[in-house]
Parts: sequence; C-alpha cells; structure tokens
Amino acid sequence: MAVRIDGKAISAQAKAQVAEEVAALKEQGIRPGLAVVIVGDDPASRIYVNNKKKACEATGIYSEEYALPANTTQEDLLALINSLNKKPEVSGILVQSPLPEGLDEGAVVEAIDPQKDVDAFHAYNVGKIMQGSYTFLPCTPAGVIELIKSTGVEISGKQCVVIGRSDIVGKPMAMLLLHENGTVTICHSRTKNLPEICRTADILVSAVGRAHFVTEDMVKPGAVVIDVGMNRDENGKLCGDVEFEEVEPKAGYITPVPGGVGPMTIAMLMKNTVAAAKLQAAK
Ligand code: NAP
Repeated sequence: MAVRIDGKAISAQAKAQVAEEVAALKEQGIRPGLAVVIVGDDPASRIYVNNKKKACEATGIYSEEYALPANTTQEDLLALINSLNKKPEVSGILVQSPLPEGLDEGAVVEAIDPQKDVDAFHAYNVGKIMQGSYTFLPCTPAGVIELIKSTGVEISGKQCVVIGRSDIVGKPMAMLLLHENGTVTICHSRTKNLPEICRTADILVSAVGRAHFVTEDMVKPGAVVIDVGMNRDENGKLCGDVEFEEVEPKAGYITPVPGGVGPMTIAMLMKNTVAAAKLQAAK
C-alpha cells in the first residue's frame, strides 16, 4: 500500500518558513506584496483567488485584489498591469487564468515586469527555467518537486514520465525533473503506447485534466505517483487524473486530490512573492 504524500502538511511547513522570512524582511523595512487580478466571474477562479489571499494573510504577505468585469478591454487590463509594474507596494503580480474570451492571455503575461512575474510564465522567466538559473520557480512543478523530495526518493537517475506538455505544468515539470538529473519522458495526446511508457516510470506525474485517466495497469509497482489533475467526476466531486483506489495499493507513494499538489502550488507562489520582494529591494 502506497504512503500518501500529505500536501497539506508539507505546504503548511513551507508557508511557516515563508512567514518567518516575511517577518525578518519586515524588520529590514521590506514588505512583500502580491497583486492578484481576476477578470470575470469563473467560480473556480474565484476559489483559487480566495485561497491565494488566505495564504497571503497566513504568511504576512500584503495583498491587493483587482476584480474586473468580464467585459474588460485588453487596453484597460494592460493599463492596470502597467500601473502595478510601477507600484512599489506590489512585489508580485498574478493574473488568474483563464481570462474571458477576447482577451489575449499571452500579451497580458508578456506585459508583466519579469521581476514581478511570480507565476514564472513570462518568456524571460521561461528561458531562465530552461537554463536552470531560476529567479522564480514555476509554482506547480516546484511544488511537485518538493513533494517528491519529501518521500526521500532520489530523483537523480530515475525514469520520470510526465503526462501533459502544457506551458504551465507539463513542460516546466519535465525541465525541473531534468535539472534534478531524472531521465525524463514527456507524453501527450499523440503519444503511442502511453500505458507501456507509464509503466517504465519510477516517478509518474500526471497533468492531463481527465478523471480516471491513470489506471492501475499504467503504474510500476512501488512508483511515486503525483497527481496534478483537478477534475470533477460524474458526481461533481473534486478528483485528480489518477484512479486513486486502484493505484494506491500498487504505488510506493501517492498524492491525494484534494490535499496533494494544490496546496503546494500556493505555498510556492508565496515563496516567489518573497523572492520578488528581495529582488526589488536589491535594485
Ligand atoms: P492543459 O493545458 O489542458 O494540458 C493537458 C495536457 O494533457 C496536454 O498536453 C494534452 O496533450 C495532454 N493530454 C490530453 N489528453 C491526453 C491523452 N488522452 N493522452 C495523453 N495526454 C493527453 O492542462 P494543464 O493546464 O496542464 O492542467 C492539467 C491539469 O492540471 C488540469 O486538471 C488542471 O486543472 C490541473 N492543474 C492543477 C494545478 C494545481 O495546483 N493542482 C495547477 C495547474 C493545473 P496535447 O498537448 O497533445 O493536447
């Protein structure tokens, strides 16, 4: 039976460390601050934004929220980003995705000052991630690395399979595993023999976004299984990509959903906000 990786407890430790660092920075007159921009009324986005605000409160990070109507123009959104880029109280800027149709998410990300890009989505920071010289770690993949390390399993030399190649999860995930000296295979919707490839994985990370996707026959006995997926099942219940009940007895370690990767992502965002504040203070 797999050991469950407790993302809630591990993220609580990470946030406690951030809170200590925030307190120390405040003594030096540096106050980390996060501006969160949400456009429209997507209910899931609202929950994520509220969780981020709560994490700011818990860690002592100052936060500002900008809730804009769904009919906001690109011009107005870019003007807000520009003003936040210049605002000294704001160390980090996060624009909650997805943006309503008609808004160009890529252009919005590129408008964020790379030194305030705490999601690490700007091309400058993506390039830094490729080089392995991080200003900001991509939040979800960085959280996954911490969860894997919490198990004591060495990534170096291991077969790592990432399912999914999105810019925000799959690709940076593969890159961080590579920087940890894993041997990495990236799978996607055109991959042939996906179950066979997954069965080679000592470390399997699923970031597909489909309930019931990873089944027991795709998992090597004793593997570390990390479930990034956040889906709703047929009954509307939150679930990951992994068929948890059948994979848990076979895996060595497994993350639950909820309570796995999700809380870690937010803890990493807090870490990045502190890093941004330090960066700007050093300017
Ligand atoms: P995405 O942009 O939709 O990417 C999904 C990836 O899965 C794509 O690369 C796609 O391949 C691949 N895929 C789809 N169907 C497949 C199939 N049948 N076989 C193999 N690969 C397949 O999603 P995302 O933004 O990366 O997010 C993935 C999941 O993680 C979602 O459930 C999301 O909600 C969740 N998420 C969670 C957190 C967290 O903090 N816990 C953070 C971010 C995202 P192609 O490229 O070929 O289309």
